[in-house]
Amino acid sequence: MTEPFAKPVSFSKLVAAVTLGPGTRDSIEVRAPFTGAPIGSIPACGEDDVDRAVALSRAAQPAWAARSFSDRKRIFLRFHDLLLERQPEVLDLIQMETGKARAHAIEEVLDSAVVARYYGRRARKFLQPRRRKGALPLLTRTWEVRVPVGVVGFITPWNFPLTLGITDAIAALLAGNGVVLKPDPQTSLTALWAVCLLREAGLPQEIFAVVTGDGPTTGQALVDRADYLMFTGSSPVGRRIAARAGERLAGCSLELGGKNPMIVLADADLEAAAEGAVRGCFVGAGQVCISIERIYVVESIFQRFLDLLAERTRRIQLGASFDYSMDVGSLTTAAQLRRVEEHVSDAVTKGATVVAGGRRRPDLGPLFYEPTILTGVRDGMRLFAEETFGPVVSVYPVSGEQEAVERANATPFGLSASIWTRDASAGARLARAIRAGSVNVNEAYSAAWASVDSPVGGMKESGLHPRHGREGILKFTQAQTIAVQRWMPIAPSHGMTPEFYARWMTRLVKMVRHTPWLG
Ligand code: NAD
Repeated sequence: MTEPFAKPVSFSKLVAAVTLGPGTRDSIEVRAPFTGAPIGSIPACGEDDVDRAVALSRAAQPAWAARSFSDRKRIFLRFHDLLLERQPEVLDLIQMETGKARAHAIEEVLDSAVVARYYGRRARKFLQPRRRKGALPLLTRTWEVRVPVGVVGFITPWNFPLTLGITDAIAALLAGNGVVLKPDPQTSLTALWAVCLLREAGLPQEIFAVVTGDGPTTGQALVDRADYLMFTGSSPVGRRIAARAGERLAGCSLELGGKNPMIVLADADLEAAAEGAVRGCFVGAGQVCISIERIYVVESIFQRFLDLLAERTRRIQLGASFDYSMDVGSLTTAAQLRRVEEHVSDAVTKGATVVAGGRRRPDLGPLFYEPTILTGVRDGMRLFAEETFGPVVSVYPVSGEQEAVERANATPFGLSASIWTRDASAGARLARAIRAGSVNVNEAYSAAWASVDSPVGGMKESGLHPRHGREGILKFTQAQTIAVQRWMPIAPSHGMTPEFYARWMTRLVKMVRHTPWLG
């Protein structure tokens, strides 16, 4: 294995960026998935730490919100440039903490730079006050103004520590909010690295605080204090967080799990579809919320597609390497490896067939599992409907488009989907029948995700309030209407009787109905 950290990252400097209160606390040891060796320890923040982080961010927020857009924009564009320049450092760190292949880690770097640029350039347009039609033509002048919600709490998972730790927070910051982030303990160092880089780019220290620790203690303390929560993680935890935030009437957005389908139609370019499936199923060893776990293939091409997919899957270079020589890396946690093994063995015991892969690879490292394809998966097997979040895909024959869509939709999840056909317009039409927050035609997952001008999120149990685009920043604001009334009130005046006022207003309302430009 090539060694990481040509230019060493100072772990103690990163840990020093955690916002700590005065109390004593325990620490959490973090291990590298590639080898199982300890990387270092992070503080287990308690309620007093979260109190302090929220208080610091809250105190810094008004001055931050008062800064001009161009001032704020400069910081995030500078961050964009620094991130691309310093990518080897963070690629090493992401790989060290997640065990993903470098080719998958780079997606996080590029994505974070693109989102920083996008919101840096666009935030002003999304947030500037907008003239709205007033209550009474000429007499009422009305503006919609966007007000920051205050302090936004982010709780993020371990699978995309840079992207999920930083990009939504950038939108919240550009909207004038303070931010407190609680990353997953397994990947806090990557998130801390990104926050340090933002500070280097000019972000005031207190406005973006980080508290490290577990979910039930540190995470819950943040849920109980932030003015708005953005949670990315599993659907069961998201549900609990939304309920708890709801008790305080704090707003909440949720980016949750998926069981993402891919549909291969009879006219698809099968080579391209098989390549796309390999990317979609095994990116990040399948530990990506939008990775593909189910493939529905029209019967007439089922065997050909399966052969192409199996052949490509068997060729995947699996292993630990801090360069681009490996295609797929390791699972990130022992719990994740257990879950993958349980899902596959449950399916095989109940009659499913392993077409490729199907076993762990301790010879490569403690958490490696082969990219795996199964057929014959049926209702009643855990793999059929539960999110596996690993390098495992089930392939099913279907009679045609209609069955494919019905089966794609037959799940409580609705995160991402993919359709393959040579008729792209027909594919885009079919996409509208799929109940998922994003649908890719002739790409596995990245076309929709990387179109950052358009919102991506979950339907059904996969989430609430998407990220990216206009929605991805406006959710961190509250709408305020400011209306200025002039010349006469919205009430009888200048000696009018209530009857005269009622007649006059009725006439006015009718006139507006027949004068489209007035309302
Ligand atoms: P998880 O829900 O177990 O944990 C996510 C985060 O929540 C972690 O920081 C954890 O410490 C914290 N947490 C756990 N319990 C908590 C509690 N009671 N109160 C407050 N915080 C708590 O999820 P995970 O296993 O880390 O991540 C995998 C899941 O995330 C998968 O389901 C995946 O699909 C989903 N995910 C979704 C997206 C998306 O954008 N939709 C992106 C990445 C991952």
